[in-house]
Amino acid sequence: MFSKILKIINSALIFVFFVYLADNLYGTITYQPLINLNIIIFPFLKSYFLSGIFGAIVEVTSKENIVFNKESIFRNANHYWILLLLFSICPFAIYFISFITIGIFEIMPFNIAYAMFSLIIYYLLSNLMIRDKYLKPLNISNRKFKLSSRNTVVIAFLYLLNIFCENIIINSYISSPMLLNIMRFCSIYLQLIMFSYFTALILDHYPEIAAHNESQKELFLVNPINGGIISGFAFKFSGLPPASVFAIFKAITPKHYKIREFNRLYWRKRYFRKNKLVAITCFTSNAFEAYAIAKGFKDAGSKVVMGGPHISCLPDEALEYCDSVVIGDCESVWPDIIQDYENDSLKQKYFKPISEEDHHKVNAALLDLSPQDIAGYLETTRGCKFQCDFCSVPYLSNAAIYKRPIADVIALLNKAKTQYKHLGFIDTNLFNNPQYAKELFAEMKKLNITWRMQCTIDIAKDDEALRLAKESGCTSMLFGYEIIAGSKEKEKKGKYSMADKYIEFTKKIQKLDIKVKAQFIFGFENDTLRNIFDIWKFSLAIMPEYSSTSLLTPLPGSKFYNKVSSENRITNLNWRRYSLSYMVFKHNNLKSSTVTRLFPLIYSFINLTASSGGLIISFLTIFSVTIITISIKLYFILLNIK
Ligand code: SF4
Repeated sequence: MFSKILKIINSALIFVFFVYLADNLYGTITYQPLINLNIIIFPFLKSYFLSGIFGAIVEVTSKENIVFNKESIFRNANHYWILLLLFSICPFAIYFISFITIGIFEIMPFNIAYAMFSLIIYYLLSNLMIRDKYLKPLNISNRKFKLSSRNTVVIAFLYLLNIFCENIIINSYISSPMLLNIMRFCSIYLQLIMFSYFTALILDHYPEIAAHNESQKELFLVNPINGGIISGFAFKFSGLPPASVFAIFKAITPKHYKIREFNRLYWRKRYFRKNKLVAITCFTSNAFEAYAIAKGFKDAGSKVVMGGPHISCLPDEALEYCDSVVIGDCESVWPDIIQDYENDSLKQKYFKPISEEDHHKVNAALLDLSPQDIAGYLETTRGCKFQCDFCSVPYLSNAAIYKRPIADVIALLNKAKTQYKHLGFIDTNLFNNPQYAKELFAEMKKLNITWRMQCTIDIAKDDEALRLAKESGCTSMLFGYEIIAGSKEKEKKGKYSMADKYIEFTKKIQKLDIKVKAQFIFGFENDTLRNIFDIWKFSLAIMPEYSSTSLLTPLPGSKFYNKVSSENRITNLNWRRYSLSYMVFKHNNLKSSTVTRLFPLIYSFINLTASSGGLIISFLTIFSVTIITISIKLYFILLNIK
C-alpha cells in the first residue's frame, strides 16, 4: 500500500511544489512579526490548495479519477477549502488561548503544535470527504475504523517524522536556510502521505466504492505523447486545445458515458483500467506510444478502438494491439461502435463513408459542447483540393472535400467567442473552395473576432477573398510552401506550379497586414545540400513571421511512401523517426545519416535568421548573453579593485 501511495503523491509532485512555495513564502514573511496581515491571507491560500490536493487524492485513491489535473484540484478546492480552514482554526484557537493564558509560545511554537494536531485533522478530513463523496450518494452506512498494528506503526512513524521536520524548521530559521527549505518540502510531503494513508485505510473498509467507480460506463480518450516527455510537459502548460477529434467523440458519445481525456500525458501503468471503452488516436510519429497504451488497456481487460491518420493507413498493423480500428472518419461509425461495444460484439474494422446526415448530427451535437471544446475543433472543410505526393490528406479524405454548412460554422464561432476573442481553424486547407471561403468570411465580418488559418497560397490570386479575410479579422495565414521557385518539383504541377509566384503572392498578403507563417520541406528527390541555402534565401525574401522546415518523410498513406517502399528504399521503420526531422529513406543525392545529424542546425538556422519572429528571438538571446557576460566581467573587475 505504501508504494502505491508514494506513486500517487509523486504524480502530484508539481502541485505539491506549489503548496511548498506558498508555505515557504508564508514562513519567510511571517517569521519576524508574529501577527500581521499575512497570517490571515496565507492560511486561506494554503487551505485552498491543500484541500484541492486532498480532494484529488481521495478521488484517485478511490479510483474515481486517474490523474491529478487542474480541474479536479480546483473543483475540490472550491468545495472543501472552508472545511480544511475550519479544521486548521481549531488548533489555532486552542493555541491562541494557551498563548494568552500560559504563554505557550515560549514552550512550543505554533507549527509544532499544529503538527501534533495533524493526525486527528487528517483522519477526520479524509473521513468527511469520503462520506461526502461516496457514502452518502451510494447509500453506504458507516463502518467502524479498524487499524492493524502494522498500520499503527507506519502512521506513528510518519507522525513523529513530521514533528521532527517541524522541529528542524524552527531551529534552522537563521542557521541554515537550505536545510529549512528542504525540511519544509519534506513536511508537506509527509503530511500528504499521512492523509493518503488514512484515505487508503478508510477506503479499504468500503471495497464497494472502488468496485462502483470501476464499473462506471467510461470512455477513455487517449492522444499519446508525441516527441518525448519534454514536449508532453510543454503541452501541459501551453494552453493548447486537446486533439481536435476529442470534440467529436464528446459530442456524439451517449450521455451516460463518463468521458476522460488523456492528452499527451507521460503514461503510467496505474492509468490502465479494466472494463472501459478506450479510443486512441495517433499520427505515425506517436504510433509506438499509442500501441503500448492500447496493449496495456487490452491486457487489463478493456476494449480498445484505434483511429487517426496512421491507423487509417495501416489498420492491420494496429489490430495486433487493439480490438478494433476505424478507417477514415469516425463520425459515421462511432454510434455503431458504441452499440457493438455494449453488445460485446465489436468488429475488427469499421469503415463507412461519411454522409450528409452524419455531418448534420455532429454539427448539432457540437453546439452542446463548451466554448473551450469548440475552440479546439473549428473545422470548415475536410480534405484538400491538391494532391501533393508527400501528403496523406488526399488518401485519408478519399480525395473528397466536405464543407460544413456556413450557418453551422457561424453558430460554433458564436459560442466559442463567448470565451475566446482570437480563434484558429484546424482545416488543412481552408481555401479549398473559393466561393465557400468568401461566403464564410463575409458572414464572419459580423462576429467581431480575430482569427488565423492554414490554407494554400492561391488565395492571393483572389483579391475579393483576401479583402474579405482581412475585413473578417484574419490576422495570420500559414502556408505550406514546401518548395521554392527554382525547385525541380515544380514539374509535378498541382500546388507546386505556383512556386514562381510565391514571393509576389506573399508580399500581396503581407501588404494587407496579415502575418504569414511558412513551412518548407527539404530532402525532395532532386535536392542537394545547396537547397538549404536556397530555402534560407527564399525565406529571407518573404520574411515570414515564423518559418519551419521539415525533412521529407514518407508518411504511410502518401504516394511518396508507396513509391519509396515499392523501390525498397525505406531505411528505417521505427515510427518514432517519422516526426519530420529524420531522413528515413535512401536519397538519390544526400546521405541520410548526415542530413539527420545536420537537421537541428538546418532548422534553427532557417528559422532564427530568416523569419521576423526568429530574428527577435536571436536578438534577445544575443542581447541577454552579452549583458550577462558584461555583468560577470564587471563583477570580477570590481572584486580585483577591492
Ligand atoms: S496542399 Fe497541403 S493538405 Fe493539400 S495535399 Fe498538399 S500538403 Fe496536403
